Amino acid sequence: MSEAPGIVSGTRRLLRRLRDTMAGSGRAQERLDRIVRLVAAEMIAEVCSVYVMRAGEVLELFATKGLRAEAVHRTRLRVGEGLVGLIAATAQPLALSDAQSHPAFAYRPETGEEIYHSLMGAPILRGGRVLGVLVVQNRTEHHYDEDEIEVLQTIAMIVAELVAGGELVSPREIAESRAAGMLSVRLVGVRLNPGLAIGPAVLHEPRPVIRQLVAEDVTAEIERLRRAVAAMRDSIDQLVAAGIELGAGEHRDILETYRMFAADRGWVARIADAIRSGLTAEAAVQKIREETSRRMMQASDPYLRERLVDLEDLANRLQRHLSERIADAEPAELPAEFVLVARALGPAELMDYSQRRVLGLVLEGGSPTEHVAIVARALDIPVIGRLEDATSRIESGDVVVVDADHAQVLIRPSEDIRLAAISSVGARTRKRAMYEGLRAAPTVTRDGVGIKLMLNAGLLVDMTHLAATGAEGVGLFRTELPLMVRDTFPAVDDQTEFYRRVFDLAEGRPVVFRTLDIGGDKVLPYLPHAAEDNPAMGWRAIRIGLDRPALLREQLRALIRAASGRDLWVKFPMVAELPELERAKAVLDLELARAAEEGRAPPASVQIGVMLEVPALLWQLPDLCRRIDFLSIGTNDLIQFLFACDRGNPRLADRYDPLSAPMLKLLREVVVETNAAAVPLSMCGEMAGDPIEAMVLIALGFRSLSMAGSAIGPVKAMIRSVDLAAVTNYVAEIGARPDHSLRSKFEAYARDHLIAV
Ligand code: PEP
Ligand code: MG
Repeated sequence: MSEAPGIVSGTRRLLRRLRDTMAGSGRAQERLDRIVRLVAAEMIAEVCSVYVMRAGEVLELFATKGLRAEAVHRTRLRVGEGLVGLIAATAQPLALSDAQSHPAFAYRPETGEEIYHSLMGAPILRGGRVLGVLVVQNRTEHHYDEDEIEVLQTIAMIVAELVAGGELVSPREIAESRAAGMLSVRLVGVRLNPGLAIGPAVLHEPRPVIRQLVAEDVTAEIERLRRAVAAMRDSIDQLVAAGIELGAGEHRDILETYRMFAADRGWVARIADAIRSGLTAEAAVQKIREETSRRMMQASDPYLRERLVDLEDLANRLQRHLSERIADAEPAELPAEFVLVARALGPAELMDYSQRRVLGLVLEGGSPTEHVAIVARALDIPVIGRLEDATSRIESGDVVVVDADHAQVLIRPSEDIRLAAISSVGARTRKRAMYEGLRAAPTVTRDGVGIKLMLNAGLLVDMTHLAATGAEGVGLFRTELPLMVRDTFPAVDDQTEFYRRVFDLAEGRPVVFRTLDIGGDKVLPYLPHAAEDNPAMGWRAIRIGLDRPALLREQLRALIRAASGRDLWVKFPMVAELPELERAKAVLDLELARAAEEGRAPPASVQIGVMLEVPALLWQLPDLCRRIDFLSIGTNDLIQFLFACDRGNPRLADRYDPLSAPMLKLLREVVVETNAAAVPLSMCGEMAGDPIEAMVLIALGFRSLSMAGSAIGPVKAMIRSVDLAAVTNYVAEIGARPDHSLRSKFEAYARDHLIAV
């Protein structure tokens, strides 16, 4: 594996001198001129030239030692033209002892290169993209060996930093030329939130920027690598031992990858060799990652490509362990509007970004009821999930079309597709304007039945949707969402202030506050939370509220204070049995008594409700109804427990359809029982916001639905176009059929009856 000592020490000297030149004074062009002279001298070549990629897939001679000086900035080759163009097109190095006999050789008289026999070139690569080509030429017939090719590639990697610096050609031109040099790609995933967007991609947790490429002390770098590999191995072992679920099968894959690369010692040994040639440990990891990634990109075997993703992950992890010389890309570099691409993303992380304009979201994992999808829906961001290799196929800066309606992502689309997407985004904006036009129109069916449409909210920004959509109030305020973007748990005064603002923004419309539903996938970083095997069925929501009554008491205290003189609607999440409700109500009573003792003006009224999310509650409905003022069905959780189907598991996202007999029967029974008890019923799960599902819900007897702001217009349009009596008959007629899904039948019905779904 190791190279001959002579070559290694020569390379190191060359790299050090290169580093000094890179760091030296003068403009980038002058430094590039010095670099080609240095490389020619050190590699004993008569010629060394650098070609840089310009907009329109053209490679321009930017610096040369040996070719005629007047050719600089004049000689231009298209990608694919000549040997230099071939190196750029294939992104592979080339070494020829008799260059002129190669079929791709293109003679350029202005360069005077006919006297040079041999040629060796390497692509100047960064992030897997070709930024240019580095070439050396010799007068005599020279057989370049593996080591020389390796050295040239290492030099090209360093020159890439100079080109990417943006002084030789503007960063914008680099981005454009990259786009032109890459084929467009279409990837298909799963629709998590409909919509269409087009914009430049931004990778969440992008590849690190390496500040120091050339090693000061090779032995010390090898030692750093050894320590980082050991630390990485330990941390992977710990993750596995602790049984922490990282995402679908991730730890198993990491381990397999780790074993695979550790077993043949190839990966780490190649990194060590790159360090011995004079790179820092992090630059060496980067170099080997680029090489492997190029090799695997060309593989058509999906297994190999999957391994590439694992390998990227492994390289990322290793780089984090080497992290002191790595800087994250500055957030200030984000474009004003962009498409966010992530392996996985928490709701809090998405909210961090939404200060800026996230046009669309592409995830490698994800499922429709995962909270990041719910937050994205609140922000009206189209989302596609389960695009397994998104982060390795998409580079920051690539133009991406997120066509969430068809669950596809178009990467670097052609000009006509871009134009079509832009015009389609425009058409949607007009459609949205049409929905906004419905804002003041009554929500009644064609046969005159009124339906109440409410908003699901959790962020202050959501409250603006009340006026924009004409929603009658907030049917679900997820109080945990604002806590997920904070660093500490807010004191009672802060909470009170926040809820007051919510009341003020509601301008007298009812707001149903749900007490904290933390746990599950909503972990607050500042509250200690032990890892659980099944967090969705674990210590979450009201269970935490009752076990840690201080949290619940403080929240209710703040709500009571904020509601002074107004109607307070409170509901408790994940109640499974009546004693839990009784205990929660006792806490509320205590806080009401306390407010009275303190002489505070009480709420005008207090309405207490429960979320129906745990199936056990279905068999306690008559008793439950006697103890509550209203009931809300949370189908996101209810469905996952009913079908025993994890709402966050992408593999199961389409496994069962709520538009099937068991769910319809359940919902109908809840309608009957709550009607009998005269308890108002509403639905605030994602089902309520899907027009076709909402059509079935109103046919089953639901008269109040709560949903994301973006769903209100489409659901209202459906309601205004439906004949409720007719659809009720149809649902009664086919609703009990034992099919896997009745969706296509309901869709056909809607089409035939001109219902807007
Ligand atoms: C539900 O489970 O349907 C619900 C509305 O609650 P959440 O999505 O916040 O768990
Ligand atoms: Mg829930």
